[in-house]
Amino acid sequence: MRFLTADYLFPLYIAPIKEGVLQISDDGQVIAIFKNRREVPQDKLEIFEGILCPGFVNAHCHLELSHLKGNAEKGKGFLEFSNIIRQRDSYTDTAKQQAIEKAEQEMIANGIVGVGDICNTSDTLEQKQKENLKYYNFIETFGVDVNKVYVVFNQAIELRNEFRAAGQKASIVPHAPYSVPPVLMQKINNAFDDNDELLTIHMQETKEENQLLENKKGPFFDWLNGMNATSSIWKNRDKSTDILQELGDKKVLLVHNTFAKKEDITDNYYCTCPRANLYIENDLPDYSIFDTNKLCVGTDSLASNNSLSILDELLIIQNNSNFDLNTLLKIACKNGAKALGFEHLGTFEKGKIPGVNLIKSMAENKITKLI
Ligand SMILES: [Zn+2]
Repeated sequence: MRFLTADYLFPLYIAPIKEGVLQISDDGQVIAIFKNRREVPQDKLEIFEGILCPGFVNAHCHLELSHLKGNAEKGKGFLEFSNIIRQRDSYTDTAKQQAIEKAEQEMIANGIVGVGDICNTSDTLEQKQKENLKYYNFIETFGVDVNKVYVVFNQAIELRNEFRAAGQKASIVPHAPYSVPPVLMQKINNAFDDNDELLTIHMQETKEENQLLENKKGPFFDWLNGMNATSSIWKNRDKSTDILQELGDKKVLLVHNTFAKKEDITDNYYCTCPRANLYIENDLPDYSIFDTNKLCVGTDSLASNNSLSILDELLIIQNNSNFDLNTLLKIACKNGAKALGFEHLGTFEKGKIPGVNLIKSMAENKITKLI
């Protein structure tokens, strides 16, 4: 049994408490919160400098791409970046596994407790089975050629079943509005079952995506045509968010939204990956357009980021929005847990096992994982 206190406690389901105390069991379960240090046994009190908040939820990552760290040149745009991703298989299995393990350790050290992770392979499964972190696995489909949709979808079903058989949460999801034609969307919808909590999709990550769907031309139009893409992708959709109508009334987490406008925002959950946006597109979303109760944050992969640190991401958001610290921490903890259905994470509510982070200095990125 521990009684933890710092300059401020951020329970996130109630307002921050100056010198608040968190009572927590040895296995990390929240027992109670006290508004005054005098209410608890003084000899048991552990006093820290800084603030205490729950463990972070990284709502968007591609752990399997960790071995590509540093390969992509910054600011070259998405098409150049996708060429780098295509080199993913020219590495040994050992190199990939080592990079995955190291990346997970980095997330743990940075106070992350839950991850929404995109999977195109089962490369990460062995590491995830160690259950160091809580994962929601999104089995990604990318299938622009209708002749190959059947194969793409069946591979996704097989991969999803492999993850589920290993005790992992896994759902089949579309990659993006430009890479999944209506016929594949239909199959994804039909495969959605009681084990699925939500879908996620990359959304408005590039200017070229908007240009393709709104004007039916541009670099993405040429790129897709070069891959024998079906025109039903852009004929049936006049803007990125049109694909949401094909998803029915499911919970959806829309990722990136770098080029989203106020009128594009729906009642769904949104995830921002600011450092990846700066890395690839050298741009950021307009943070004033989001509902801060529905906004989450992700690191994206080490292929498009130098670190897997939610605190690093928060610093960028802080410098480019008017969000206060409590809002930033809600984005980093509570909202991601809600979006991904991690019921025991995200806040210091009684009974949860959310992890405890001590942030000594936000600007200097001084974070200690206490539990
Ligand atoms: Zn991504």
